[in-house]
Amino acid sequence: MTMMQQHTTPAGEVPVRRRWIACEQCDLLQHEVELPSRADARCVRCDAVMYRGSRARLDTMIALALGCAIMFLVTNLFPIATLSTQGITVSTTLIGSAQMLLQQERPVVAVLMFVTTILVPALELSALLYMLLPLRFGRVPPGLSSAFRMLLAAHPWGMLEVFLLGLLVTLVKLSELASIVPGIAFWSFCGVIVLFSWLSTSFSTRDLWRWVDDAQLAQQSQEQTRSGAPEAMQ
Ligand SMILES: [Zn+2]
Repeated sequence: MTMMQQHTTPAGEVPVRRRWIACEQCDLLQHEVELPSRADARCVRCDAVMYRGSRARLDTMIALALGCAIMFLVTNLFPIATLSTQGITVSTTLIGSAQMLLQQERPVVAVLMFVTTILVPALELSALLYMLLPLRFGRVPPGLSSAFRMLLAAHPWGMLEVFLLGLLVTLVKLSELASIVPGIAFWSFCGVIVLFSWLSTSFSTRDLWRWVDDAQLAQQSQEQTRSGAPEAMQ
């Protein structure tokens, strides 16, 4: 649990930020300090680890999320693989694979594939960018907590790695029967998985609330500057 106390300052000055954090083991309130990356802060009373030094930077997270979103678009727009056998060439996209499963009367597999490979990653990336981009410009987006809750609920259902594994097994098996050329979407799909894993391991709830605190302080500071400006002119 983190609390933030803000002391009133004259108009135009940046408010002084004082964060307090409660130990999860013994509830002792302690003043939070900035830690170097990978360092631990321990409770002075019970020695429990209270928090770790921040690893993520907002700009890095936005760059990763944007890169991931662009690669995800490429993955969905272009063919994932092209199969050629006996003069017949077939290529399909990610959404095309789900449609083919539906046509082959496998609705449950088609829906599962659509939800875990397309819908959930799309929702996760949209929620991330919706939260992070305004924070970068010192604004807290409306409904941030709902977007974050949705992100946490959706995350376990994203199964891009499972799909890639299944795809690789299928391609290797089919390579005995047909000539297979991986499409641009296949390589961007691999890129999405790498960037998504990087995003997931770097992103933490604690960092998000720190960025929210910073944005709120920046907003309050701007409001104070605006309300102070007419007084100064009088
Ligand atoms: Zn403690």
